[in-house]
Amino acid sequence: MPHKDRERRLEYLRQWKLKNRPAPKIEPQSDPGLPPRGVMVFSPDGTTVQCHSCGKWFGGLNMHFRVHGLDARTYKELYGLPRTKSLWPPALMEKQRDAALDRDQGAIGRKNIPPAVGRPVGQEARLGVRLEASEARKGVNTRAGEKTKR
Ligand SMILES: [Zn+2]
Repeated sequence: MPHKDRERRLEYLRQWKLKNRPAPKIEPQSDPGLPPRGVMVFSPDGTTVQCHSCGKWFGGLNMHFRVHGLDARTYKELYGLPRTKSLWPPALMEKQRDAALDRDQGAIGRKNIPPAVGRPVGQEARLGVRLEASEARKGVNTRAGEKTKR
């Protein structure tokens, strides 16, 4: 690890990301009515998003791109969007987030996580076990066929 303090490490990671994971380039499409490649275009109130293929506005693109025979991965590749970019407008994302918080989605997920499994109660920590075993071996081990200790 090249850095020991947080700021230098974060700066290193930012430089690495700039070099190895560049942000998508924003390029205008040939048809001026279509949104530019590499960026999602939302309505001013954030409730609708514009399709890169047909230029129409929708509440979310996650089902619409099937009309153009695309799936999410090919749509994002075709229009230069980041692989993890959401195809929902901000208002819908906020609505879904609020709904998840209202139904306590985190608690529902936590029920399915198995309990943490650690060292059983009463078992010694590893170093202690090794030291204990070492103590027990003293005088018993041989080196080149001779007892080290009687
Ligand atoms: Zn479309």
